[in-house]
Amino acid sequence: MRTLVVDHPLVTHKLTALRDAASDTATFRSLTAELVTLLAYEATREIRVQPVSVTTPVGIARGVKLARPAPLIVPVLRAGIGMLEGMTRLLPMADVGFVGLRRDEESLVASTYADRLPTDLTDRDTFVLDPMLATGGTLATVINMLVTRGAASVTAICLLAAPECLRRVEEAFADGEQRVRVVTAAVDERLNERGYIVPGLGDAGDRLFGRI
Ligand code: URA
Repeated sequence: MRTLVVDHPLVTHKLTALRDAASDTATFRSLTAELVTLLAYEATREIRVQPVSVTTPVGIARGVKLARPAPLIVPVLRAGIGMLEGMTRLLPMADVGFVGLRRDEESLVASTYADRLPTDLTDRDTFVLDPMLATGGTLATVINMLVTRGAASVTAICLLAAPECLRRVEEAFADGEQRVRVVTAAVDERLNERGYIVPGLGDAGDRLFGRI
């Protein structure tokens, strides 16, 4: 597995505003979309393309277009939905699948309650959207679902990651899994006893959609 921390002043500027507890829901949503588009630019650097020629008003130019089958974007319910707009802005031709996991509060075992993914992902680049990579359990499960269905690549895009999560996912997809990447705006200090990233930005789902 490879990790990319996107080091760019605009990314850090928007992330800093996102972290601010004073940012309201509307601001948080639009900043998330803008930040995801910036992260997606880096996350799609290795996306599969095929050569094409186009006729310009003056001659023939050689270029590329995205290869088929179309990339698949996978927002993890619920907070990942808040990242979808920023991602489809850059990849409007992508398909979108959905995954939801629920953790049993006693056993702490995660189970899948929503799986709207194609069964065959052969030759497809896939992009998982999950804003906060905390313990890594959910991400490891989702990556595993995509890898076992044959995805050509799995790139997780997140706003913030905890070192604990990166370690766990790295262990799960160690040798030979160059197909798996995590792209994040920052890696924070640690998780607190309630599983929140410190200093983090709080509960991303609540800040995007309100507390329900
Ligand atoms: N999920 C969140 O929304 N925030 C955290 O800090 C950790 C997990």
